[in-house]
Amino acid sequence: MTDLHRLSIRELAEGLSQAKFSSRELTEHYLQRIAKIDPLVKSYVTVTPEQALAEADAADAALKAGNATALTGIPLAHKDIFCTKGIKTTAGSKILDNFISPYDATVVEKTKAAGLVTLGKVNMDEFAMGSTSESSYVGATSNPWALDHVPGGSSGGSAAAVAADLAPFATGTDTGGSIRQPASFCGLTGLKPTYGRVSRFGIIAYASSLDQAGPMARSAEDCAYLMNVIAGHDAKDSTSVKKEVDDYVTNLSNTSVKGLRIGIPKQYFNVVGLDADVKARVEESLKKLEEMGATLVEIDLNMTEAYVPTYYLIAPAEASSNLSRYDGVRYGHRCENPADLMDLYKRSRSEGFGPEVQRRILIGTYALSAGYYDAYYVKAQKVRRLIQQDFLKAFENVDVIAAPSAPTTAYKIGANLSPTEMYLGDIYTLAVNLAGLPAINAPVGFDKDSLPVGLQLIGNYWSESQLLSIVHQYQQNTDWHTKRAAIAEENA
Ligand code: GLN
Repeated sequence: MTDLHRLSIRELAEGLSQAKFSSRELTEHYLQRIAKIDPLVKSYVTVTPEQALAEADAADAALKAGNATALTGIPLAHKDIFCTKGIKTTAGSKILDNFISPYDATVVEKTKAAGLVTLGKVNMDEFAMGSTSESSYVGATSNPWALDHVPGGSSGGSAAAVAADLAPFATGTDTGGSIRQPASFCGLTGLKPTYGRVSRFGIIAYASSLDQAGPMARSAEDCAYLMNVIAGHDAKDSTSVKKEVDDYVTNLSNTSVKGLRIGIPKQYFNVVGLDADVKARVEESLKKLEEMGATLVEIDLNMTEAYVPTYYLIAPAEASSNLSRYDGVRYGHRCENPADLMDLYKRSRSEGFGPEVQRRILIGTYALSAGYYDAYYVKAQKVRRLIQQDFLKAFENVDVIAAPSAPTTAYKIGANLSPTEMYLGDIYTLAVNLAGLPAINAPVGFDKDSLPVGLQLIGNYWSESQLLSIVHQYQQNTDWHTKRAAIAEENA
């Protein structure tokens, strides 16, 4: 079969359980595609063919023996931020270039237990700091829709791999938009769950109070399958929540779009820098939802201007603390011939961290230092609470809130935006993490250059089923999520 990469997760599961093809055939098919097409896209940092084929054979045995799960034998890619036992985990940083984790992240453990096959690890911005995936020390990844454009970030490798059909779905993490924005730039569906829904154990920490893992795939249905595997409480992550996990697949048709109240924040559609095509496509998608029975309700989110400054204090503050562990002593990059301990620390860190990471460590350390702590960090925490309250107030009158996922479509590789320009591009995604809410990106069309545009729907706490269900129904009535980049049409 030459078109296995065109099948949805449900179709793959059916095909495997009915023995129309084996996991080995499917895995080989993807490995061949990666070998042929990924040199152009550069989405993978590490491909693991031997392990993948061994897992595929084990999956085929389980399928034969009748003890397979719903997803046994389906391949996936993991963002290179998830610790994988025996496979290098770099988080896109030179400082972790030689790091092989002695254990699996809980998310990885769960995908293995479900019988999923790991194809490899995919590229990302260094320590998930960025919006283009260009800050990775291994170099940039291309957007499958236009190879001279970025796939977004920080989960850009995950997005590019799925959009080029080099993996049927992938894991990502989202600290301030890193699942939703690359999904938007690459025409995919991506879900950032409620903080605490998915275990952070074994995910290289960026900003611990904001980090959350989630699925990236073509459709809401595909995302639901992966959510069923990765969601849930984990004793190894004290911030993961003991709360029953929905069956996201069964729930896909449970939310009625008829009568759904969708909040349209006044402030969001007047943002300077909101691209006219993005605005038009998002508005068209809302019109479609209206036709399907939803009511659009104008709402106020008065704290909009505070999102970027608040996030860019709290995230670097937490990052500066989390990244203090990389000191060249126990693991990771170590400088040559250190003169003394201080020299070892200084040079290992200066050589190991790229410029964006260094910038954030400086900002974060400054904001946390005695004398500035109250003025910056404590104040940002207070504003964070106000941002959360703003959302909670809005949810008294609406079921979900609509927004673009990003003010623009994908940037050109090497556009070299200033840090301020880059940070402003995160305006629509950051508040969701500050408030700990779930949100989803769905592809809703293209701009004048044929680059994908995404709609973001933000839900109240624990509304993952609702978000997936709304997007699923939108996708039953539209075909944006089925569009494929030319490079994905190529056969290996
Ligand atoms: N672009 C944002 C940042 O650079 C968000 C990244 C993320 O979600 N990991 O911090």
